[in-house]
Amino acid sequence: MKLPKEIKLYCKKCGTHTPHTLKEFKRRQTRGLAWGERVKRRYKLKGYGANKIKAHRTTAVYKQNKKPTFVARCSVCGAQTYFVIPKRMKKVELVTV
Ligand SMILES: [Zn+2]
Repeated sequence: MKLPKEIKLYCKKCGTHTPHTLKEFKRRQTRGLAWGERVKRRYKLKGYGANKIKAHRTTAVYKQNKKPTFVARCSVCGAQTYFVIPKRMKKVELVTV
């Protein structure tokens, strides 16, 4: 799917519709001391079998595609919001119109 790089969205700060620039959302690196990471490490120490069972339970492996998420930045005030397309798709391209 092709999307324009600049779209008009409602800005909470401005109170009106303003042009927003889209940027691909990237997940941050997980904290090493977070609870989920500690559990993962514990199961890794226990051996391959245990690790496999836990991994299967926690992560959704069966879904191949992700719902594309973007960070929309207001061109007037610079406020940032998330812009999500609620549909799974293989590929999304941002195109300048
Ligand atoms: Zn704004």
